[in-house]
Amino acid sequence: MRLLLMGPPGAGKGTQAAVIAERFAVPAISTGDIFRANVAEQTALGVAAQAYMDAGEYVPDEITNAMVADRLAGGDCADGFLLDGYPRTPQQVAELDAILDRVGVGLDAVVLLEADTDELVGRLLARSQEQGRADDTESVVRRRLEVYAAETGPLADHYAERDLLARVDGLGQVHEVTERILTVLTSAAAQRTATSAP
Ligand code: AMP
Repeated sequence: MRLLLMGPPGAGKGTQAAVIAERFAVPAISTGDIFRANVAEQTALGVAAQAYMDAGEYVPDEITNAMVADRLAGGDCADGFLLDGYPRTPQQVAELDAILDRVGVGLDAVVLLEADTDELVGRLLARSQEQGRADDTESVVRRRLEVYAAETGPLADHYAERDLLARVDGLGQVHEVTERILTVLTSAAAQRTATSAP
C-alpha cells in the first residue's frame, strides 16, 4: 500500500497516519515530524528548516525533496509507505513521481482529510496550549492555513484527475474518521482490482 495523507494543518493527519499505517503494516512518514526531530537535535537539516517552520512557511523543495528521497530509499519502504504531509507543492509531486518511477511503482490512493477553517484554527490553538509548538501561535497558525490553501490545496485536483483522490470528512471522533478512511481505501482497492482484471 502506497498512500498519501493530505489535508490542512490541524485536520488530524498525524493521528490518522499512525493508525492507518499500523493497519496496513507500512511506515508512517511525516515530513513535519522528521523536521521537528532535526530541529530538536539541531542537525544541519534542522538548522536549515527551523526559520521556515517557525514562520509557518514551507521548507524549500530542494531540502524537503532530498530528505524524502533519502527516507523512501529505506528498506522498510520497499513494500509500501504512508506519507503524511508530503507532497505539498507541484515540485514535490514531480519529485515523488520521479522517485516512484525509478523503482517502477505507483501510488495506490491519496486521502484528503477535510475540515473547515474555524475548526482548524480552534484545534491548532488548543494544541498550542497543550504542546507548546513554536508554529502554533495564532498568527503562525493563520499563515500556515494560508500557505496550505495557496500551495497545497490545488494539488487535490491534480490527484483527482489521476483518479487517486478520496475526500474524507475530518470532523468527529478519531475512530469515526479512521473508519471513513478505511472505507474509502477499501473501495479504492476494489475499484483497482476491477479495472486491472483481464
Ligand atoms: P506539519 O507537522 O506536517 O504541519 O509540518 C510542520 C512544518 O514543517 C510545516 O509548517 C513546514 O514548515 C514544514 N514541512 C513539513 N512538511 C513539509 C513539506 N512537505 N514541504 C515543506 N515544508 C514542510
